[in-house]
Amino acid sequence: MDEQAPHPVTGQLFDSPVPPGTGWPGDPATASTPVARTAAAVRRLAAGADGIPDLQARVSVCRACPRLVNWREDVARTGRRASFADQPYWGRPGPSFGDPDADVLLVGLAPAANGTNRTGRMFTGDPSGDVLWAALHRTGFAALPTSVSAGDGQALTGIRIVAAVRCAPPSNKPTPTERATCSAWLERDLELTEASGLWAILCLGAIGWDATLGAARALGWGVPRPKPRFGHAAEATLRTPQGRAVRLVGCYHVSPHNTYTGRLTPKMLDAVLLSLRS
Ligand code: SF4
Repeated sequence: MDEQAPHPVTGQLFDSPVPPGTGWPGDPATASTPVARTAAAVRRLAAGADGIPDLQARVSVCRACPRLVNWREDVARTGRRASFADQPYWGRPGPSFGDPDADVLLVGLAPAANGTNRTGRMFTGDPSGDVLWAALHRTGFAALPTSVSAGDGQALTGIRIVAAVRCAPPSNKPTPTERATCSAWLERDLELTEASGLWAILCLGAIGWDATLGAARALGWGVPRPKPRFGHAAEATLRTPQGRAVRLVGCYHVSPHNTYTGRLTPKMLDAVLLSLRS
């Protein structure tokens, strides 16, 4: 499918994948945003990002993992789900979404092929996101109970959503190398958010938990030994190099596997989110 398609909210026509800086709602990048094509470039460009908006622009055009770039763009061009075949697909890494001054970070696993990879917004357009956004709204973090498309008016207050890996992986399984390459973006997200008062990190699932611990260690933060074990409502205290405490909180992932089986209920999710309100 090479023809342009209309954005579901604005009606503007877009190619799939969406070229940076062409008017997609919330696109943080421009045509001149620097593009990382290797793991070393990810490290260099992440370290050089001078704030959250700049970091997210750089994330959103990254091309450092060949397998994931091919997958996300193939899905966007020719592998769209039939029910979304009339929509353009973002087809790029998912930038973070939320309050740029947030003092709470939510760390997910990776975008879904027909969710974030289609809409360009974290947890948007897939069943996992439907559960999460309803809970974020019930607990006062989200303006709306749903998040269906960039440009729909959704907004977060006090929290920002990031992910361990920013590109949709085949079978939802990034390789260890891809996780390691993408970790530099997460490290910089933590570093920049810590500077503006980060006090809690909520990790959805064990991969987000492990990625956050790895990023904290790489930044020289104090991490308890032995390594804190992931679990629902598990907690640990990280220490910044200045000795400031940052709460690490675990939550079962909002995947259909957990929510359809009752392993994670709305009540459990609400309780964890409410515990993050300072
Ligand atoms: S997974 Fe991360 S490092 Fe790899 S291409 Fe996507 S954004 Fe870049």
